[in-house]
Amino acid sequence: MALSGLDIYKLLPKTNCKDCGFATCLAFAMALAQKKVSLDKCPHITANAREALESAAQPPIKLVTIGTGSHKIEIGNETVMYRHEQKFYHPSAIGFLVEDAFSDADIGKAISDIKKLEFERVGQVISANLICIRNSSKNKEKFISAVKKVAASTDLCIALDSSDPAAMAEAAKAVKGRRPLIISPDAKSAPEFAKIAKENNAPLAVTCTSLDEVAQMTDAVKKAGIEEVVINLNEKSPSRKIQGFTYARRAALKKNFRALGYPVLAFTQQADPSLELAEAISYILKYAGIVIMKGRDKDFVFPLLVARQDVYQDPQKPVQVEPKIYEIGKVTKDSPVAVTTNFSITYFTVAGEVESSKVPTYVICCDSEGMSVLTAWAAEKFTAERIADTLKKSGIEGLVSHKKVIIPGYVSVLSGKLEEVSGWKVNVGPREASGIPNYLRNWK
Ligand code: SF4
Repeated sequence: MALSGLDIYKLLPKTNCKDCGFATCLAFAMALAQKKVSLDKCPHITANAREALESAAQPPIKLVTIGTGSHKIEIGNETVMYRHEQKFYHPSAIGFLVEDAFSDADIGKAISDIKKLEFERVGQVISANLICIRNSSKNKEKFISAVKKVAASTDLCIALDSSDPAAMAEAAKAVKGRRPLIISPDAKSAPEFAKIAKENNAPLAVTCTSLDEVAQMTDAVKKAGIEEVVINLNEKSPSRKIQGFTYARRAALKKNFRALGYPVLAFTQQADPSLELAEAISYILKYAGIVIMKGRDKDFVFPLLVARQDVYQDPQKPVQVEPKIYEIGKVTKDSPVAVTTNFSITYFTVAGEVESSKVPTYVICCDSEGMSVLTAWAAEKFTAERIADTLKKSGIEGLVSHKKVIIPGYVSVLSGKLEEVSGWKVNVGPREASGIPNYLRNWK
C-alpha cells in the first residue's frame, strides 16, 4: 500500500535542516510520496525508518515472471480488490495439465491441442499460456522425457509438478533457460524445492493447506533467497479456495501483509467440462494469477479466454478500433456504405454479420470515443454532424458511385438531420446486428 505524504513525514527526522534541498521535512515527504525525489536525498533518516519506507515502496503483491521472451507470463503486482476501482494489470495465465503417465502419442496430441488454443477476438489475440507437466507416473525418466518433449514442441511457459526432488531437480535443469515454475508438493518440502528453484533462477509455487501455512512458508523461502513466489492453496473445495484467495488479496492490499502478497495458482477440480469452465472462470474473477485446467476442448477454453480478456480490460477505456473505412469483402463502387461507432465490440459484431451476408460492404467507423451506438448517441458523440464530418473526411465519396448511407436502426432519429447536413440519402438499417445479413441482401 503506497504511503501518503503525511505517513512518510511521520518517519522523517522533522528537523527541517534543508540538507535534502527542500525547505521542510514535510515538503520532502510530499515530493517523496509523488515519487519526485529519492529517499537517499535525506542523509539523516534512521535505519528503521528507511526499512519501513523501502518496504512500503514495494508493490503489495509481488510481480512474478514465468518463462522468457515473447511468451513470458507476468502475474501479480495488482493494486485493487475490484476492477472498477482502477483496473487489473496482469491477466491470469491459463495453463493445461499434461501428465507424464500419458502415452507418447497422447502427450504429443495434448501439446498439439494446446498450441491450437489461440483465437482472435475484437482485434486481439487470446491464447493459452502454459503447460504444466505432472509427474503422475512417479517415474523420473518418464517425467524428464515428457518435460523435454513439451519444451521441444512449444514456446509456451512451463510449470513442473513433481513430488520427487531428484526428478524435479533434473527436469528444472533440462529447461533452465525457459524459467519454469517449480511447484513444491507440500509445505514440508518447500525449502528443498526452493533450493532447486534458486539453482535454476526459477519462480517457486509453494503448496500449502492453509493461509497460516502459506505465511510461514513464503517467509521461509524468502529467507532462502527466493523472491518470486506463487501461492498454491491446496484446498479441494472451489468456494474455500476462492475464500482463501480473497483473504490473501485483502490482507496484502489492505493490511500490507507481505507474507500473503504473492499471486495465487489454482488447479481446477471438476471433471465435467461445463463445471470445470465455471470453476476456472470463478478463479479468474477472484484473483487467480494462474489457472491450470485438465480439459482443453476449444469450445470450453474460448469462453474462458474471453472472460479473462474482459476482466482484464481497463473499465475506464473502452476497446476501440481505428475510426476509418473498413472494406469487408470485395467491395466495388456499387457496394453499400454503412456507418457505426468505433466501439470495438460494436464494430466486430457488425463486421461479422456483414461477412456472413456475403454482400461486400464499406463499414465506416465514426470516432465515438469508443462508445457503443446508443451510448454515443446519448453522449452526443454519434450525431448527424459527426457522421457527416466522418463521411466527408473518410474519402468514401471517391470510392462509390452513389450517395446512400446506412445508419444503425437505433439512431433512426438522426436521418433527417443527417440528410440535411451531409447531402447523403440515409437508409435506416436494422436495430440489431443480427438483422444485417437480411437487410444487406435486400439493399438497393
Ligand atoms: Fe528533513 Fe531530511 Fe530534508 Fe533535513 S534532509 S529537511 S531531515 S527530510
